Amino acid sequence: MNTQTPSRYFRSGDLARVACSSCEGCGECCRGMGDTIVTDPYDIYQLHAGLGLTFADLLNSGRIGLHNENGLTLPHLAMRDESGACSFLGDDGRCTIHALRPGICRLFPLARDYSDGSVRYFILPDACPRPGQTKVRISRWLGIPDLDSYEQFKLEWHGFLRDLGELAASSADRDTLTKLNYVLLEYFYLKPFDGDDFYLLAHRRMTRIRRSIGISFGATQKEPGERI
Ligand code: SF4
Ligand code: SF4
Repeated sequence: MNTQTPSRYFRSGDLARVACSSCEGCGECCRGMGDTIVTDPYDIYQLHAGLGLTFADLLNSGRIGLHNENGLTLPHLAMRDESGACSFLGDDGRCTIHALRPGICRLFPLARDYSDGSVRYFILPDACPRPGQTKVRISRWLGIPDLDSYEQFKLEWHGFLRDLGELAASSADRDTLTKLNYVLLEYFYLKPFDGDDFYLLAHRRMTRIRRSIGISFGATQKEPGERI
C-alpha cells in the first residue's frame, strides 16, 4: 500500500495527466491484483444491469471472490489461478466489460481520497509502466453518468464501511460479526437494486441498516429515507 502523501489532490472537474496515449493493451494493470479490486454495490448493480448476472452468479462462476478486510467480508474481482489475470481480461489483453468495468478500474492510475469529508483524487505514483500520459478531465476519464450522485454515494459508502468496520473490530462475539457480514452481503450485494434510482435505494439501505444496528450518522449523511 502506498503511504506517501500525494503531492496534489484533484477534483473531478480538474485536468490530470492520466490518459495513457501509448497504451496498447499490455494489460499489466489487470494482472496480479490479488484481492485489491474491491467492488462496491454500484459496480455489482452495473454488472447485473449490463450482463444480466446476479451477485450469486458472479460468485458461483468465479468472477468475483470474497476476502476479509478489518473484520468485514467484501467482494473483489477474482484473478485467474493460472495466469493471475482478471477474470474479465480477454486474450487480446483488453477488458471484456469495458463499459461496465468497476470504479477502481475506471480510476486507474488515479485513486480516491475522503480524508477531508469530500471526494478528491490523486495520481498513484508509478502505476502505469508506459510513458507519455496526457492530460484529461477526470470526469471524462471516469465516464460515469451523474458523477455528483456517484461521488455522494462513494462518500456515504466509505463512511458506512468505516463505521461497520469499527463495529466489527470492537465485537468480541462471533455471532455479531457473522450478523454484520450477513447484513452487508445480503442488503448491498445479494439483494438486487431494482428500480431506476440506485443512489436513492443505496442511501435508504445504508440509513436503514445504520438505524437497525445502532450506528450513528456521520456528518456526510443526507436525511434518512423511509424504505429500502
Ligand atoms: S498498465 Fe498502462 S499501458 Fe498497460 S494496459 Fe494498463 S494503462 Fe495501458
Ligand atoms: S474489469 Fe476489466 S479493467 Fe478491470 S481489472 Fe478486469 S479486465 Fe482490467
